[in-house]
Amino acid sequence: MDLTYPAAAETFREKVRAFLDEHLPSNWEGVGALPRDQRGPFVEEWRKTLRAASLLAPHWPAEYGGSGLTNLEHVILNEEFAARGVPTAGSNDGFSISMVGNTILHWGTEEQRNHFIPRILDGVDVWCQGYSEPNAGSDLANLGLKAELDGDEWVINGQKTWTSAATTANMIFALCRTDPDSPKHKGISFLLVPMDQPGVDVRPIFDMGGQSHVNEVFFEDARTPRENVLGEVNGGWAVANTLLGFERGVGATVQYLAFEKELENFIELARRYDRLGDPAVRQQIAKFHTVVEVMRYRGYQVLTTFLAGDRPGPESSINKLWWSVFHQEISSAALALAGPGGQIGFGEETRGGIGAPSLGTPNTIANWMNTFFVARAGTIYAGSSEVQKGIIGERVLGLPKEPRADEGSWRDTQRLG
Ligand SMILES: Cc1cc2nc3c(=O)[nH]c(=O)nc-3n(C[C@H](O)[C@H](O)[C@H](O)COP(=O)(O)OP(=O)(O)OC[C@H]3O[C@@H](n4cnc5c(N)ncnc54)[C@H](O)[C@@H]3O)c2cc1C
Repeated sequence: MDLTYPAAAETFREKVRAFLDEHLPSNWEGVGALPRDQRGPFVEEWRKTLRAASLLAPHWPAEYGGSGLTNLEHVILNEEFAARGVPTAGSNDGFSISMVGNTILHWGTEEQRNHFIPRILDGVDVWCQGYSEPNAGSDLANLGLKAELDGDEWVINGQKTWTSAATTANMIFALCRTDPDSPKHKGISFLLVPMDQPGVDVRPIFDMGGQSHVNEVFFEDARTPRENVLGEVNGGWAVANTLLGFERGVGATVQYLAFEKELENFIELARRYDRLGDPAVRQQIAKFHTVVEVMRYRGYQVLTTFLAGDRPGPESSINKLWWSVFHQEISSAALALAGPGGQIGFGEETRGGIGAPSLGTPNTIANWMNTFFVARAGTIYAGSSEVQKGIIGERVLGLPKEPRADEGSWRDTQRLG
């Protein structure tokens, strides 16, 4: 196994470092080191800097505002940005660039690309993901949000739920039932729908931490132009799967960096509470270190897949299990270190999003408390742990299939993705 990057890649790394040196202050210690009220404005400005340098979606072709980076260059860019504690995009870009932007480039018509891609990069359109419904989560193809053609427009009625960031988005990519008479996964279309209209009502769902990352989205005669279908009418299942494939994109190769930083914070916390000599804490640190190393090598495996011109398959489920459980366990352990003090100060600092910790997160107990809460959701969204284990059992290990009542479950999405 050769874990060194080719010389040309290392030359590119120097370029990235020079870019960061040029655009970050000399005393820069990461976004998390900024006073709380300066972090949001910094990320907004940083997004503009990346846009101006064609680095906001660096792997996109130059004609669509990218820099045409190879997968390896993209990984190096992510590594260097992580090392300096700066984000690779704005706070709302996950759904917009990584998911729907990539999918529009893949499936979109020339008109759709020319219309939507610049709006995404300029931050004019901010997207959220309308897949899940009250009766469609793991069994996604059971979705029922209805869309019917009325002249030149689709008319949409029904509900989505668990929609992250719907309060800040002005566009939603929504899987809609456009042919109720076809088999479940054949009558679905992938519609691009403006949210700023009277027929769309967003209602926040508050979690046990008092935050509202997720929302219900109700559609009552909402409208979108006829041409706002990505891919074929009734062919949305394939588009939906392409998007899920992008969800497991190049970012997975360096995801471990954020968790490595989280472990450093945990060790620092143990030092602060004078618990580094405690054998039980040392055992926890050894375990967390081992898991970070596993994630690092899983990252290398994903990178190898990309370099071979392929995309990660069902084995991505292994990564999902590792990071989501790690995140829950380390935040629980951090609060245990702090004892009753772990409950003081909750709400002082809100870390914001769900998922992987953001680099530069301040190492405060309040933040660990927030992480403790948001990490609970990690074993549910993007496919629950039980579903991931089913995928690993059946499709990675080749164990006998569980009996399934129907086609079109989340497992089928993973198969196609
Ligand atoms: C914080 C958060 C953010 C989210 N953001 C979004 C978003 O932006 N957009 C969006 O569309 N969705 C979003 N979701 C929804 C998420 O994708 C679903 O919650 C998830 O797919 C599980 O679906 P469900 O909640 O309907 O649970 P269900 O599918 O009803 O599952 C219930 C239980 O049954 C188990 N189960 C289900 N099927 C199987 C099986 N085949 N084998 C074994 N066990 C099984 C599950 O593991 C779970 O324990 C989000 C969810 C959360 C928690």
